[in-house]
Amino acid sequence: MAFDAEAIRAEFPILARQVNGKPLVYLDSAASAQKPRAVIAAMTHAMEHSYANVHRGLHTLANETTEAYEGARKKVAAFIGAEPGEIVFTKGGTEAINLVAAGLGARLAPGDEIVLTEMEHHANIVPWHFLRERLGVVLKFAPITDQGVLDLEAFQSLLGPRTRVVALSHMSNVLGTINPVTELTAMAHAAGALVLLDGCQAIVHKPIDVKAIDADFYVFSGHKLYGPTGIGILYGKAERLAELPPYQGGGEMIGQVSFDEITYADPPHRFEAGTPPILEAIGLGAAIDWLGGLDRLAVAAHEHRLYQRVREGLAGANWLKVLGEAPGKGAILSFTVDGAHAHDVAQILDRYGIAVRAGTHCAEPLMRRFGVTSSARASFALYNTEREADSFVDALFKTQAFFA
Ligand code: PMP
Repeated sequence: MAFDAEAIRAEFPILARQVNGKPLVYLDSAASAQKPRAVIAAMTHAMEHSYANVHRGLHTLANETTEAYEGARKKVAAFIGAEPGEIVFTKGGTEAINLVAAGLGARLAPGDEIVLTEMEHHANIVPWHFLRERLGVVLKFAPITDQGVLDLEAFQSLLGPRTRVVALSHMSNVLGTINPVTELTAMAHAAGALVLLDGCQAIVHKPIDVKAIDADFYVFSGHKLYGPTGIGILYGKAERLAELPPYQGGGEMIGQVSFDEITYADPPHRFEAGTPPILEAIGLGAAIDWLGGLDRLAVAAHEHRLYQRVREGLAGANWLKVLGEAPGKGAILSFTVDGAHAHDVAQILDRYGIAVRAGTHCAEPLMRRFGVTSSARASFALYNTEREADSFVDALFKTQAFFA
């Protein structure tokens, strides 16, 4: 399948707009991606034609909506090589990790160890800190090299008889590093630990087969995958989900309730208390259908080409420091400009119509590891073009001139 970025771009209405009198160059997709017309249309269609609450109705609209909602679960399952019963809808990647951490916490004892890495997003640090504070479990952070590569020997040395959980990102939202998760999962399993992978970034850029990776849990968000906000996915192996207690209580997650007793529904419904993100699930299903029409390896190659083009364009920029030079990294460029605060860099780029993120990227420990308080980040998606890569390079040189 040939890859035509301009044609794909035309499917995203928002990308036609101007910002500050300039064509929008959206390089903030790692924070949240824009939505193709197919996703917008699917959600609008549901609201205009077939919408009701799910699971509890006997009327036509309730049945149709339930079918669409459960249909989205099947699409997600097929997308990552799982069974529908192994897919839990949450409100985001963050909630998915919290759900697992809270559930596993019920089985942990003081002194049990959880291994993370230095490159985690706060979403994969803070829920484990809760367990440290409440239960006295010990958090260990596997170090990374100056290039931003996970140190495998050091990781191995952190695994021991008290390691209960290993939780790490498949792809760093700051460094772009893609971790060898199949190997890391095998190492963690050999030590008897459960494995949770934070796939919020990786799933956008790589086809994922959860059975091949063999992790116990894999989580991601809908909104970075060209779907809507308000929905995330927790994949869990059937036997692992069956072991987890409910996360929230409410309607639709029970077996039976009486004044004295309660039993719970089986997974995945055990973890979907209350009215779920119905429209968002339909939107995510549409995003997955839409991605299914693309050659995802060609998409990844395109994004990589854009990244390379930017790096070549910035080759002579001795005022630029890049965070993350891992071999095979994804198309994320985190950088600092000598003498300039990242927030100022982002604001000046915005004058040129270029949207980048600046700050800690919810990864303060990683920032500290690299000795910086913040960085700017340009992230590339399937709708970005070579013309935009060049605009960014040009605007960054002009931005730097303000500080020279
Ligand atoms: N993990 C990583 C690696 C991320 O990039 C993000 C989003 N920035 C999250 C977790 C959290 O995802 P969300 O905010 O969609 O819940």
